[in-house]
Order: sequence, then structure tokens, then C-alpha cells
Amino acid sequence: MKKIHVTIWNEYVHERAEGEYGERLRGFYPQGIHNALKEELAADDLEISAVSLDMPEQGLPDDLLQKTDVLLWWGHCAHGKVADELVDKIQQRVLAGMGLIVLHSGHYSKIFRRLTGTSCSLRWRELGEKERVWVVDPQHPIAQGVPDSFVVPNTEMYGEPFGIPPEAHVVFISWYEGGNVFRSGVTFQRGQGKIFYFSPGHETFPIYRQPEVIKVLGNAARWAAQTLPNAKTDCWNQDPAPEKVYSENPMDKIDTSSLHKKA
Ligand code: ZN
Repeated sequence: MKKIHVTIWNEYVHERAEGEYGERLRGFYPQGIHNALKEELAADDLEISAVSLDMPEQGLPDDLLQKTDVLLWWGHCAHGKVADELVDKIQQRVLAGMGLIVLHSGHYSKIFRRLTGTSCSLRWRELGEKERVWVVDPQHPIAQGVPDSFVVPNTEMYGEPFGIPPEAHVVFISWYEGGNVFRSGVTFQRGQGKIFYFSPGHETFPIYRQPEVIKVLGNAARWAAQTLPNAKTDCWNQDPAPEKVYSENPMDKIDTSSLHKKA
């Protein structure tokens, strides 16, 4: 059986912060969120790499990106440090078929905003309040084995309006103690690539140690993984046509080949 190659990318900044804040995070994520997720998601059908922004080529050299079937993305304060050239490459991989799972504050990452084409803005509040996550599409592969609803005891509130494209397919909706609601699990397709955004994962609480959250992410990795060969993402000239063209070409005598050359 071919294993699914999962790459977990993390900016890995908060977990290395000094003082009480950093110590708290290291208490549940001693090697960072990416390595914690690697541990939690470990399974026979997955081959998992955990990488971070400070690594060579910002953690995603071409050979790793090419073999990645599904990429998980956690970022917050360092979105601006991700090279535009890398964002271009990830976008091309998604269009060609690689899956992408965007986590929590990754809603504002360059790659998610690039692929959605929208603001990806939302309301937020950091009071450590309770969140109840509801499954609204129980048939969806990402919801299999997930209870009808589950509680994240303490979290940061993310609330509507969420600036995502209207075609977002909603799998989870969250209610917060303070009264807000949020489309906390949504899917998209871009080119041949499947995309899932999942909001639970605020770094100051051990949310990625919660079994329901890990169940969702494991399901999402298997759902989004690339299963077809890379799709073509550039244009190509289909000449000759599969059917005979009888019309006389008014442009027959004029050479237009230069119009199609790339600058
Ligand atoms: Zn947060």
C-alpha cells in the first residue's frame, strides 16, 4: 500500500517564545505544534514530515513539496516572512492536486488568501472561553467517527463574518460561550486540489492533544490527499483539432505565432 505523504508546516515562533507564555506552550508542545501533530497523527498509512519556517528553503524544498500529498499549515505572527516565491510553488502544487489543510490562524496566511482570493478576515476575542463544535455535514468523510458535537474547553473565539468565498462547503460550525458562531470547518476545491480550513488550534491551550480534533485532522488528511497524477496547470495548443474544422480561417495568411510566445 502506498502511504500518504503528509507534510506539517509550522512557523514555530510562539512555542520558542521566552517567559511564561513560551513555557506554557512548551508544556504541551515541547518540540512545537508541527512535531506534536506528527506524534498525534501517526498511523500506518501516513508518512509524516514535520517542518518549520527556520529550516532551509523555509522548510519546503522542491523535492519535499513535490512528494507531499497533503500539506498542513500552521502560522500566525510570521505570515509575512513566507517568501512569495514559495507561495507561488504551493499554489501550483494545489492546482495540480496536492491537498492543503489550513489550521487556526493560518486563515490569514498568504497561501490561504491567495487560493481563496478573499479577505479571510474574521472577528476574534481572547478570553479562554468554551467552544462547542457541531458537525453540520455528517455524511462528509472528514466528519466520520466524530461525535455530533464536542467541546474545546478553553479557546480563542473566532467569529462570523468570515471572509471566505460563498461556495465554501461547511462541515463544522462552532458556538462560543460569549455568543458568537463561526464556520469552523470548511472545504474548497482549487484546480485538482482539495482544501480544508479548520479553526480549533489556538496555541495557548492544548487543543492538538484533544482526540476529537486529531480525528478531524486525520480524516481531513486522508480526504485531501492527492490521489491522481499532477494535473496540467499551464495552457497548451490543441492543434490539430479532434474534429475537422471546415470554416475558412480569415487569418490563414498571417503569422500569429508571436502572439503566443511568453515574454
Ligand atoms: Zn490564536
